[in-house]
Amino acid sequence: MELTRRSFIAGAAAAGCMAAVGGDAKAPQHEGIRLRFLGTGAAGGPRHSSVLLEGKTLIDFRESARDMLPPGAAPDTIFYTHSHGDHYNPVQTLRLGTIRHVFTQETWAEGARREFAAAAAKLGVPTPEVTPLPFRKPVRVNGLTITGLPANHSTGRITNGEYERTSIYLVEKGSARMLYATDTGGIPGDAAQYIGIDAHIRNGRPITALVMEATTGFGCEDDFRLFVHSTIDTVARTVRVLTKTQRLLSPPDQPVYITHRSHIGYSGNIDADDARLPAPLKCARDGLDVVLG
Ligand SMILES: [Zn+2]
Ligand SMILES: [Zn+2]
Repeated sequence: MELTRRSFIAGAAAAGCMAAVGGDAKAPQHEGIRLRFLGTGAAGGPRHSSVLLEGKTLIDFRESARDMLPPGAAPDTIFYTHSHGDHYNPVQTLRLGTIRHVFTQETWAEGARREFAAAAAKLGVPTPEVTPLPFRKPVRVNGLTITGLPANHSTGRITNGEYERTSIYLVEKGSARMLYATDTGGIPGDAAQYIGIDAHIRNGRPITALVMEATTGFGCEDDFRLFVHSTIDTVARTVRVLTKTQRLLSPPDQPVYITHRSHIGYSGNIDADDARLPAPLKCARDGLDVVLG
């Protein structure tokens, strides 16, 4: 069978494993998820990795990427992947003046609540609500369903004797299913299982879009960050396997964007790096707007 997204979705909908979309059986309607990359750099910047979804919801935020917010943008909700300083900074986030809801993985929400309260006191602004998010619990917010899933990453934060667990996010809107995966070394099996792309699942649910970190670039396969970050080759292999097995079914010509790029293994010339990437990989760029179906 020709591996098109339409044929898969038609089949999946018929099999009852995916909601049928719209009234037209021939052409499902795909509004897609509106995403702006605010920053696409790793800890060294220049802008730290962060995205704005549907103009209202942030995943991670640092001041370094503030200039990439659309004029007049007023995000009210932020989800954090983890507490590393290149993703998480309560004072800088509250300086936006619009954030009311904060979600962190439950293992470190207590600390985040304290730190946001201290940041709010320092700035003299209202304290946002900090919600502890267990893995696999979908949250409906601003027209999206967002689910935190285990990442393959670690921090040094310990709360009540428990290490912080770090998150990647499944973002869903209609039939669009995007996996936003940074920081992580590959896609962990338990995350893949929830999403429906695990090796054991025969009739799973494909993702339709992937944004994934490639912290280290070309020729970095033996880098010591192996266990906590991905390389270009990790992403390329992931995409080849997911595509071949119909676990990633994107609209035609939709790239897989790589983000959280460090200075290691990249030339610093984004056009030159892009030209070397195997399709469908593409460098996400600061300020880039995309709609992912
Ligand atoms: Zn990072
Ligand atoms: Zn990190």
